[in-house]
Amino acid sequence: MQRQRIVRFVDIDETVFHTTAHIKIRAEDGTLQKELSNQQWNVYPRENIIAKTETADFAEFSSAQKFFDESIPVAPMVEMLREWSYEMRTDPKHFRDMVVFVTARGDFDDREKLLDAFRRQLICIDDKEHFYISRTGNLSPDTRINGIHLSVAQRKKVEYLHYLMAEMPAVAELYEDDPKNIQDFLELKKEMPAIEYRAFLVKDNTITQVEN
Ligand SMILES: [Mg+2]
Repeated sequence: MQRQRIVRFVDIDETVFHTTAHIKIRAEDGTLQKELSNQQWNVYPRENIIAKTETADFAEFSSAQKFFDESIPVAPMVEMLREWSYEMRTDPKHFRDMVVFVTARGDFDDREKLLDAFRRQLICIDDKEHFYISRTGNLSPDTRINGIHLSVAQRKKVEYLHYLMAEMPAVAELYEDDPKNIQDFLELKKEMPAIEYRAFLVKDNTITQVEN
């Protein structure tokens, strides 16, 4: 008998935590031009950056201390993570579920400090059988795969696909604050129709299922 298996993808910035890191856009001579939030960066035109007349500075995103000190939990999301975390360790029906945090960030400078931010919310991030962190590192101005320039959403999609092909779950869920990523995720059903897809928009401290 096929046992239930759910793979849940969970974004971090503005989904699990309200975070404060900004991208600094600098002119060629290094002068600061603007500071963008994660969400503003997602839609920021890349032309000048690709042409190298502007640079994007992501230093704040690698600071685990800043993340630990300044992030504010999104209460309903943190509650669900605690519940899943308990369920996956104690209920045989959920032993084969997993949670993958898919973040656009690259490496943090202190992994333990990063994990502490989750531990402090009683999320059992050290349960390595059930929790994974996937850093797509796509907060870089010009990431390519096979020479093709990929957007933030596209790079996350590659990551979802990677896990789904490896795990072949019955159900795939996504929790995200960026509607573009949600649309891309739902399009995966064209590629892998055997999986049931459920997407949830996290906004203003509420979680709403998106029509499929
Ligand atoms: Mg986000």
